[in-house]
Amino acid sequence: MAKYQSLAEMKRTETVQTAIEENFARVAILRKVGGSENHALADILYDCAEGLKQCNSLACKLCNWRFRVQKVDEIVANIRREGRRWSVMTIIDYSRAFPNSELENFDVKQAKDRLRRLLDRSGFDKPILGCFESDFHVQCGLWLPHFHLLIRNTKRNRKATKLLRKKLAKLQPNHIKEGRTARPLKVQKLRKPFTQVGYIYKLVSNSVHDYYRWYFKVMGTKKKRLDNRLFCQSLCLMHKVGRRRVLFSYGERDWK
Ligand SMILES: [Zn+2]
Repeated sequence: MAKYQSLAEMKRTETVQTAIEENFARVAILRKVGGSENHALADILYDCAEGLKQCNSLACKLCNWRFRVQKVDEIVANIRREGRRWSVMTIIDYSRAFPNSELENFDVKQAKDRLRRLLDRSGFDKPILGCFESDFHVQCGLWLPHFHLLIRNTKRNRKATKLLRKKLAKLQPNHIKEGRTARPLKVQKLRKPFTQVGYIYKLVSNSVHDYYRWYFKVMGTKKKRLDNRLFCQSLCLMHKVGRRRVLFSYGERDWK
């Protein structure tokens, strides 16, 4: 099978058309919830979707789509050229989960600085790159900040991962939900680069709903769109902070 050359070639992923439709859906929700800030953002997203004025807002699905295709294609091309193995890593900051009243105050820059120090002290090889993300867990009413990262699968990084796992076990002993085991670190081999790197750069906040998987007798989670009020709040905040704020880089510039 021919290898994909671009995220845009993947059938099951978003397209320019679905991104435009999503912008119109966002516009409708922003206008329905109302208020001057929501209306102003709705106008920006509408003009961008209509091709009148490119907004480059982090709240804009279309601009995020353009950015995402370019970024993911570039990373996958670099990885392929390099011909080395890579992994994807998720780090969850349970201890810094926060209620919605704190949403505007959460300091992403500080979270990125903390992560950089943690990676540095664990002895990871550069580059490490990825994204900050935060999802709203409906059942406990908390936003859960986390990072999706891309790391080289080297001997040094595997050793660093073990050390990081120990550190995180101390820093993040508790899940935000009762009776659940905290799993602050998840590492997977990079097997489907466009899918997995595309997932890192999805640039959206979701709500997470818990449900009982009766067949497996365990709890599972489902991601959905945030409820209208939260969705608008999250979009306005994304618009304010901008894309650069959520991108994470640790020595990405030296990646040749
Ligand atoms: Zn836009």
